[in-house]
Amino acid sequence: MALLEVRNLSVQFETDDGVVQAVDGISYSVDQGQALGIVGESGSGKSVSSLTVMGLTRARNARISGEIHFDGKDLLAASAEDLRQIRGNEIAMIFQDPLSSLHPFYKIGKQLVEAVQVHQDMTKAQARDRAIEMLGLVGIPDPRKRIDSYPHEFSGGMRQRVMIAMALINDPKLLIADEPTTALDVTVQAQILDLIQRLQSELGTAVVMITHDLGVVAEVADDIAVMYAGRIIEKATKETIFAKPQHPYTWGLLKSIPRLDTPRDQELVPIAGRPPSLIVKPQGCSFHPRCPYRHDACLPQDPPLEPVPQDPGHGVACVLAHDRREQIWAELRSHA
Ligand code: SF4
Repeated sequence: MALLEVRNLSVQFETDDGVVQAVDGISYSVDQGQALGIVGESGSGKSVSSLTVMGLTRARNARISGEIHFDGKDLLAASAEDLRQIRGNEIAMIFQDPLSSLHPFYKIGKQLVEAVQVHQDMTKAQARDRAIEMLGLVGIPDPRKRIDSYPHEFSGGMRQRVMIAMALINDPKLLIADEPTTALDVTVQAQILDLIQRLQSELGTAVVMITHDLGVVAEVADDIAVMYAGRIIEKATKETIFAKPQHPYTWGLLKSIPRLDTPRDQELVPIAGRPPSLIVKPQGCSFHPRCPYRHDACLPQDPPLEPVPQDPGHGVACVLAHDRREQIWAELRSHA
């Protein structure tokens, strides 16, 4: 049985301008110790879906339907108190900006000790030892001394390491990482991704990595779900997404990431156009206003995610015939 199973999840918000369909019937699962990358532009629904798993959209009066099962528990039916217990203990989350999660006025040691004592029956001294151990594990030099520093005394990369220590201190089964490296420079970003990958394999933690950058999930993920306008439009193993992508939006994302062998003067190709409004979605395929391959068959309805028969486990939501998609991708790749 999967550790996390999300089935047909939809999340809507009532706003003054109308109903925002932020997440529209997505399904995915994550096994113990596995890493899933959820990739999409801002407004694709990738963060809202994960905040809903954590129970954090309830306070925003979200209308939620579908199913979320975690380790045998029905999270949509769980009480607010049960969810509070699960958060930070069985499921932990890290965000792009550690300063928004760390209190600026308290030493990190105090914050780490509190994070342990909320969920575990430990003395202060035991919790402090555990905090020092975790700071060492995430690569903070001289953790016995640095535990008594304030958040602002760390660099951005070191602060993100502190956040990872805080997230993992209670040995959660699942870590949700929402754009954890976006604010960091490229070298530090690579170090943080290495760290997440190392801890995932050492501690056996499952990871959901949310990002706009396919390059980031290339480092960490086993499987990838690509989201657009609140829906998953392609889902497969990482190897398949990079070798045999089938959706025009995924092709656009792949062409917009820098590669190590990309010449410095070669321009990356951003996807033309903007993501659609989630209040009034375009008729038919949500991607059609930006899709160079649109045709009449794209207009009657948004294509559902359907299995690619030639590729078990691979799903794509596009009406183009499989042969045509293969042909287009071969051409795009030859021009890369
Ligand atoms: Fe493009 Fe049509 Fe496929 Fe949508 S269904 S991605 S518009 S070809």
